[in-house]
Amino acid sequence: MENQEKVQILKDIVAIKSVNGNEKEVAEYLSKLFKKYDIDSTFLEFEKDRDNLIVEIGNKNSEKVLAFSGHMDVVSAGNVADWTTDPFKPEIRDGKMYGRGTCDMKSGLAAMAIAMIELKEENAMFNGRLRLLATVGEEVGELGAEQLTKEGYVDDVTSMVIGEPSGYAGIVYAHKGSINFKVDSQGKNAHSSMPQLGVNAIDHLNDFYTRANQLFRSEIHTDEVLGDFIYNVTMISGGEQINSIPSEASLQGNIRTIPGYDNDVVIKKMNELIDELNQKETYHLTLTIEANKISVKSEKDSDIAKIAQQVAKKHVNVDIPMVGVSGTTDAAEFTKGKQAFPVIIFGPGNETPHQVDEYVDVDNYLEMVDIYKEMVTTYLN
Ligand SMILES: [Zn+2]
Repeated sequence: MENQEKVQILKDIVAIKSVNGNEKEVAEYLSKLFKKYDIDSTFLEFEKDRDNLIVEIGNKNSEKVLAFSGHMDVVSAGNVADWTTDPFKPEIRDGKMYGRGTCDMKSGLAAMAIAMIELKEENAMFNGRLRLLATVGEEVGELGAEQLTKEGYVDDVTSMVIGEPSGYAGIVYAHKGSINFKVDSQGKNAHSSMPQLGVNAIDHLNDFYTRANQLFRSEIHTDEVLGDFIYNVTMISGGEQINSIPSEASLQGNIRTIPGYDNDVVIKKMNELIDELNQKETYHLTLTIEANKISVKSEKDSDIAKIAQQVAKKHVNVDIPMVGVSGTTDAAEFTKGKQAFPVIIFGPGNETPHQVDEYVDVDNYLEMVDIYKEMVTTYLN
């Protein structure tokens, strides 16, 4: 495939507005592209206009199944006026393609798809299978990865590469887990001049706020690769009007977990704190866990990790370190599959995901096509 066509494919899918939805249009575009090269694909519907896409090439001569994965959704462009150019009309300036999703992660997804097409075109010899899993709703809870995992699409996978934007800064083999939580406090209205007739929901919520900060911040929990456990309340609201004792208050927060101080431990401690506070008269606090993503710590020296490092060294002459990061990925769901397999996060990109004027270096994108191809032929040799 000509470079010009590869660039056009990326432009085309960046132009599809798949902001937490509408991933079907991306899936259809890719499916049509694969069809052009005689490769079949399967849609797995998550909900209306939201379909995961599964594509496979290779043969069943060996047990090896290499999975490529990328998400098709993007985050909102934010304030469009702040962008130099329209976030959904990708434009190349100084070798950089700008647009929402250029970096996170339609370039990774497109590079993986094109690598598959070129391998097929070149009749590359495989000992095993290469499977692309293009997912929906990664940015809002890894919805597609959860569905694909539950429906068995990773049960036979032996290694996985997720094309999130690592660039050449580091191949990611570990990331923290993430919990989104909400605490509601129920009280009773009364005139603020007669507080004894009401129950102040904000006071009670504040008790949780203070105690939980003490609980989760008084001791430090650290993972040698991933760093510290992190707890933060990030949103708070309450009260109805200035001269009424508030009957409702709530807070929300985000927690980043690590192996050794994981999601189960943290949620248990939160529940115990809530139960303890609710022992007090008139307290009515409830905890809701809105997202619960486990941490991932894969093997640092797995075959696929070593292959990625070797192939990258050969193509771009960079020694890429193996690293851990804070942000969660689809790996948090995929690693719940039947059998354990190593996973790495390695794709074109930089530090601009979710930002205004997000971009990808076009050279980086094109290089990753060749790197992915050689990773496949080396792993499935
Ligand atoms: Zn992403």
